[in-house]
Amino acid sequence: MPRWTDRRLAMLRELGVQNFWPVTPDVTDAQPAGEVPATPVTPPAASASAPTPAPVPAPAPAPVMGRPPKADPDARGHAPRVLPALSAEALELGPRPEGVESMDWPALRDAVAGCQACGLCRGRQQTVFGVGHPQAHWMLVGEAPGEQEDRQGEPFVGRAGQLLDRMLMAVGLTRADAPPHAQVFIANVIKCRPPGNRNPQPEEVAQCEPFLRRQVALVQPRLILAMGRFAVQSLLKSSEPIGKLRGRVHDFHGVPLVVTYHPAYLLRNPADKGLVWDDLCLAREVQARGKPRSGQGVTP
Ligand code: URA
Repeated sequence: MPRWTDRRLAMLRELGVQNFWPVTPDVTDAQPAGEVPATPVTPPAASASAPTPAPVPAPAPAPVMGRPPKADPDARGHAPRVLPALSAEALELGPRPEGVESMDWPALRDAVAGCQACGLCRGRQQTVFGVGHPQAHWMLVGEAPGEQEDRQGEPFVGRAGQLLDRMLMAVGLTRADAPPHAQVFIANVIKCRPPGNRNPQPEEVAQCEPFLRRQVALVQPRLILAMGRFAVQSLLKSSEPIGKLRGRVHDFHGVPLVVTYHPAYLLRNPADKGLVWDDLCLAREVQARGKPRSGQGVTP
């Protein structure tokens, strides 16, 4: 598949997105499990002003279990760690809020803020609900808050978030105030920070999922961009690697869904930004030919 068409290169030039591209590849991080691209990166044809992705870094050795947390508070999608399973009784947790599937925005926000349905509530400074236009055409779904998101109460504000903002800018989108075709809505699968930035546990994802489903139902986006394997696993119920799922359009209860790598993965694997650019172009094409809002969306 010709990944770097003249049209795409021209669009990149027009958008002036050079800073979307890698400058200093970081080859010290391990390739996250399940996020190995299915195909090697094809660099774009040489062009006077077109950015050139860096060479693909050699895969690092598989991560060792029990490794200490990464220094990057945004580092998502890294090696799974096994934690002992504790029952809700043992953790003295509260019940999951009821009626999530029919809540309006204020009720949903309150339910998330007060949720004590899993042990993550113990370590959080605050919940991270989501941000953006309540009727955005694009909805982006990440994994879970990191340290800075936990502190600021907004998703993707750390290094990964800064990269995400540049990616959005490259396709004419923003999280800042704008009409619904230009302002996205950004949410995470998990609303509380996992301690030490460990991966979310299946029970935590299961407890939090109704919130995300309700957010999708309320926003009724024309397009969902699932970033990273936790978003994909939660929304598509698939454990296929990202590399196998990207490049085509999936369906989430009638909403077209495009899969791409998580921005934190891109920080560790900058040469793969070309693949994400392709995913953004696919998402844009899908969204542009999308149906009107009525008659689509998740049925709560
Ligand atoms: N990574 C995520 O998946 N979400 C955030 O909000 C921040 C980092």
